[in-house]
Amino acid sequence: MAVKKIIIYPESEAALRKKSEPVRKFNRRTKKLIKNLKDTLAKYPEGVGLAAPQINIHQRVVLVRLGGRDKEDRGKDREADLPIALVNPKIVEAKDDEKDFDGCLSIPGIFGNTMRPHYLRVTGLDDGGHPFDRVFEGFDAVVVHHEIDHLEGILFIDRVDSMQDLYRVREDETGKLVRVPIMED
Ligand code: ZN
Repeated sequence: MAVKKIIIYPESEAALRKKSEPVRKFNRRTKKLIKNLKDTLAKYPEGVGLAAPQINIHQRVVLVRLGGRDKEDRGKDREADLPIALVNPKIVEAKDDEKDFDGCLSIPGIFGNTMRPHYLRVTGLDDGGHPFDRVFEGFDAVVVHHEIDHLEGILFIDRVDSMQDLYRVREDETGKLVRVPIMED
């Protein structure tokens, strides 16, 4: 087990903004990086993805948990909880832009609504270093897009139209979770 520290915005903004380098050779080091990312994400059951730059490693490797939003489905199929790795992911087709939920383990406590494609075709290498070419749809596409953004130093807060699209979640006096805007009006 090698659980790494997830770097946080804004303290580590410079590192989060740095572009990641392609993996030139898929080898034992790549496998170790994937393992470290998996061990780290395992600590955050609420997290649906993690990118290598979030543990301060600037290589083009991300993890995504598919079926991440539908908790009921995840209960039925534990496989959906296991993240998959995308190495050198490259978007070859993106469409069906819609506003959807967004959040990030590097920006704890803040959530937002961002415009992202809900259909994404991506190529790259999988966990075993084998080439893949696959389509992600719905919220899975949102998650993959968010993680690939990290490799370019782009954060979800860059993708909101206005500060009104950012909010915190807090319990009200009855214990109900409510959205509290970051900025009033
Ligand atoms: Zn993120």
